Amino acid sequence: MKLDGSCHCGAVTFSLNSTHPYPYNYCFCSICRKTQGGGGFAINLGGDANSLKVEGEENISVYQAKLEGEDGLSPARRHFCKSCGSALWVYDPRWPELLHPFASAIDSELPAAPERTYLMVGSKKAWVPLEPGPNDKVFEKYPDESIADWHRRLGVEK
Ligand SMILES: [Zn+2]
Ligand SMILES: [Zn+2]
Repeated sequence: MKLDGSCHCGAVTFSLNSTHPYPYNYCFCSICRKTQGGGGFAINLGGDANSLKVEGEENISVYQAKLEGEDGLSPARRHFCKSCGSALWVYDPRWPELLHPFASAIDSELPAAPERTYLMVGSKKAWVPLEPGPNDKVFEKYPDESIADWHRRLGVEK
């Protein structure tokens, strides 16, 4: 399906194609918490990097996270609006065909996920509640299936 997205102030709008648009993957890592704000999490979708179209590209900044306990920066490039701060997408040159828009930036109606994955909960703050449903999966760090694998297992590729 085609996804349309934008930042809060409207300086950046974008679109891309996605076969993996279910927002099921709640990431509680410190990068998502601090850059997305508040106690919670960020949710990435899977999209086709080659289909990305952007208006207002000059308003985008890129953050490569400092990695805890390691030298250097994460290769993943977190794109955000430098005027309002909205997180837009993550692009990682190790997987150049993929682009991961933040569900929070998508204006299209996303399908509701039938089950959820909570990841990096080892980095979750104690005051953030976590109440997984019976089919939800919880991981201290990274989950054992990719965004594409999750969509395939549940037969919900678009
Ligand atoms: Zn903006
Ligand atoms: Zn994260």
